[in-house]
Amino acid sequence: MDYQDVIQNMSLEQIISVIEVLQKSSDSYLFIMDLNEDIYMISEKATKRFPFDTMVIENCTEMLKQVVYPSDYAMVEADIVKCASGDQDSHALEYRWFDRKGKVVWINCKGTVVVGPEGHRLLIGRVSELGKKAKADNVTGLRREVRFRLDAEAILRDRPQSVHYMMRIGIDNFKEINEKEGLEAGDEVLQELAECIVASVDESVDVYRLLADEFMIMDASTNDSVGAKTVYNRIKRKVTQTVRQKEYSRFYTISAGVMEEGFEDKTADEILRLTEFALNEAKRNGRNQMAVFDQENYNEYLRRLDIRKAMRRDVNNDFNGFQVFYQPIVKAPDFQVVGAEALLRWGNERYGNVSPAVFIPILEESGLIIPVGRYVLREAARTCKKWRESIGDFKIHVNLSYVQVHKSDLMKDVETCIEEVGLEPDSLVLEVTESGYIETNDRIKEIFSELKDKNIDLALDDFGTGYSNMRYLKEIEAKTVKIDRSFVIQALQNEHDYNIINHIIDMVHSLGSSVCMEGIEQSDELDKMMKTHPDMIQGYYFGKPSPKEQFENQFLQTINSP
Ligand code: C2E
Ligand code: MG
Ligand code: MG
Repeated sequence: MDYQDVIQNMSLEQIISVIEVLQKSSDSYLFIMDLNEDIYMISEKATKRFPFDTMVIENCTEMLKQVVYPSDYAMVEADIVKCASGDQDSHALEYRWFDRKGKVVWINCKGTVVVGPEGHRLLIGRVSELGKKAKADNVTGLRREVRFRLDAEAILRDRPQSVHYMMRIGIDNFKEINEKEGLEAGDEVLQELAECIVASVDESVDVYRLLADEFMIMDASTNDSVGAKTVYNRIKRKVTQTVRQKEYSRFYTISAGVMEEGFEDKTADEILRLTEFALNEAKRNGRNQMAVFDQENYNEYLRRLDIRKAMRRDVNNDFNGFQVFYQPIVKAPDFQVVGAEALLRWGNERYGNVSPAVFIPILEESGLIIPVGRYVLREAARTCKKWRESIGDFKIHVNLSYVQVHKSDLMKDVETCIEEVGLEPDSLVLEVTESGYIETNDRIKEIFSELKDKNIDLALDDFGTGYSNMRYLKEIEAKTVKIDRSFVIQALQNEHDYNIINHIIDMVHSLGSSVCMEGIEQSDELDKMMKTHPDMIQGYYFGKPSPKEQFENQFLQTINSP
């Protein structure tokens, strides 16, 4: 006798009592659905958690419309119709229900069709909550990104105004843990952190594991929220405790990127992108902190991305849009033009002329400064070659980025350029800044000393803006120190800084180097600063950066442009 025969001989009451007994030892909700009569019976436990008024529901179809998430309803109904008509004898689906608070709950519903008393087709089975443990990631026991997308999509579509916050959390030094301690240690850290996160939020708040070392908290509960900052601090405290308990065997910190508003017109995809941006902001700001998404910063970031794309296109289009300007450098005390600094310019129709303070860092981040630096060098070398016909010992100053020094074959580029153009090496002054070379390693020293062997001078740029230490000056044996305009302005404004500049200039001289003072705009500024005895001056007072032809007309009358 198989169970079909047994059940067919039982009364409905008997079947229900068996189910009630089984229910006592199950975490799931057991149910019977009479497919002929449209009646649904579910365990009492389910009526507490879900919006069923009674255990026995007469109008099953109507009830399902209340409980099943609207966009899942058609799928569920179609499956039940097949069970009722005899097209299939089992039901197994994963879909969403609403709980009593109206919160979405993922469930897995499984059942088998049996023929019961009076030949009725009965679907008997169980509903289990996928809840926080299921759809799980094996490492952390959390749901994954796919599930986040589904849940977030639904909430953003139906009730975006109820989202309190979305918080993306990342481990600051996860790669390091994996590399130094192995993948297993990495997994343990993920597990620990997952526990810290779950323990820091309410039951009704959802936690997901995204890629690698990142987590997402979505607080869209109908309860009041304690807020993102409080939750972040709780997690941080728990992480610190865990790290301490494990006696600092694995040290890590966490950063977070949070969105607290503006959910109305967003998709899950956008939330993932924007919280990632905020998380990266937190990391950029020094890690171990939380950053709240800021639309203005994000727009600026997009602008920079766009500029980067446009510059890359221009680099590949024979440097269209790039131009080299020249600003005169005069010697003291007669103010004769002895050289010029080559200053890069870039712009396009969309952005107009963009300041080097904006585009130089973008070129550096993207590595584009390497081809562009080569272009500036070549342009400047050609120009200088021509201008030497007018001023015999004219010197052209070219700015070097630390990226060029660290990441390209600078020596080769310089040599090739000099050879191709036929430039005397002593025409060239390469301007370097201190930042980026804090750890002056042997390779860099070698490059600088090779340049000197080739008779190419170095100038230390931006002096007075960073650490500006004399040791560095000595180390790289710069022939010239360029005092930055910001420092000059300070000296013009207060006596103390004026005295410092005075002393610095004496010191530079005693080391055998010369001083170029930048940013002199007015004659009274010139008068005051001349008393500190700079060797050269560069500033708007003598000339602004200008295109080659303009420079020639203004400062090199003997040259006639072709
Ligand atoms: P920098 O090398 O210190 O260049 C001097 C800057 O001061 C130039 O700004 C110049 O226009 C400005 N300046 C000179 N005299 C005066 C003055 O009297 N008043 C004022 N207000 N400003 C003055 P610019 O051209 O905007 O360049 C800014 C920075 O961008 C440069 O500072 C340099 O660090 C970087 N840069 C420019 N061209 C290149 C390049 O080809 N390669 C690299 N790596 N960096 C470059
Ligand atoms: Mg410079
Ligand atoms: Mg400078």
